[in-house]
Amino acid sequence: HPGVSQVALRIRPMSAAELAEGAWPVAHRLDEQVVVLRDPVAEPDAVLHASRSQQKSYIFDVAFDATATQDTVYRATTQSLVAVVTSGSNATVLAYGPTGCGKTYTMLGTDGEPGLCARTLAELFQAIGDASGDAEYEVSMSYLEIYNEMIRDLLNPSLGCLPLREDAGGTVQVTGITRLPATSADEVSRRALMGQRAEGVQRAPRCASRLPQVMQLLARGNRQRTQEPTAANRGSSRSHAVLQVTVCRRQRGGGLRHGRLFMIDLAGSERAAQTQNRGQRMKEGAHINRSLLALGNCIKALSHRPSGKYINYRDSKLTRLLKDSLGGNSHTVMIAHISPASTAFAESRSTLTYAHRAKSIRTTV
Ligand code: ADP
Ligand code: MG
Repeated sequence: HPGVSQVALRIRPMSAAELAEGAWPVAHRLDEQVVVLRDPVAEPDAVLHASRSQQKSYIFDVAFDATATQDTVYRATTQSLVAVVTSGSNATVLAYGPTGCGKTYTMLGTDGEPGLCARTLAELFQAIGDASGDAEYEVSMSYLEIYNEMIRDLLNPSLGCLPLREDAGGTVQVTGITRLPATSADEVSRRALMGQRAEGVQRAPRCASRLPQVMQLLARGNRQRTQEPTAANRGSSRSHAVLQVTVCRRQRGGGLRHGRLFMIDLAGSERAAQTQNRGQRMKEGAHINRSLLALGNCIKALSHRPSGKYINYRDSKLTRLLKDSLGGNSHTVMIAHISPASTAFAESRSTLTYAHRAKSIRTTV
């Protein structure tokens, strides 16, 4: 598999709070790939003269609005990664965007509307079950948080701060992290699928809604994420939640291959995006998320890589962990999130600018 990347944009519905404060929608999906953002402070008269300058359009590989279901988003962005990982390559799904714009909804979802993580796991187990015969598979799951450059195990937070080490094969691993063998989750999903077949429903994604145990596990882990001391209006989240699924494929009479899938609910981008868009140098500090900035820098370097340009993955924990899963032979999907509200205009513009640039990531083998 040559590296392939995709940047998607998802606009969530207007929230009750936004409607209550008199906000109106300024971000619209124009077609399958184009999103338009209108400047809410533009004077109504000005629209007549300079309507073009008051609105800007942004192109993505795929764009979703409030009418898109979790299933639609899954099929258009992540479903194809299942085959990538079972064949031994690496893949990454990143949910990017300001706090409150739908990252956790996309990745984790709700019991009734499960997100990408549960849907992907369900199909992964099904693919492995179907591929019996020529290969044996071992699947394990870890779920961790990176907060202030410290790694915590979300499946067992009592382990404290865990270090990153490179193993003998050059793979970066988190020392001491809980690796949940997939057998348990596999059982859950197999039962879920059987139950579903009994009801005569067609395979996959909907089965994700029948993955209560995996959902519970992820939801419980997500609740272990570090909460910011509540800021003036809302708690902005500077913690990255990383679900890592490792698929080990042992070919009969031969090769062993590891495919790693990272599904990442990134920290809120509200400060980092501005810093990035203004081209400021990355600096450490309470207000800037080192991992998010380093990720942006890596994506920028990958997107306009003059041959041989050095990419500094060592800049942060997140980029070290993803070293073999960004660029190279890997598949990367970024789903950027925005609110449609007029009151979120500045943040939406930053996010669209950042994601629009990420769209030009080209990986080479
Ligand atoms: P983030 O993780 O980016 O901070 P959340 O995923 O928590 O944001 O979303 C904020 C709120 O908006 C939540 O109540 C969530 O359920 C809701 N929400 C987000 N996206 C959608 C969507 N596509 N459809 C319906 N509700 C959504
Ligand atoms: Mg969240």
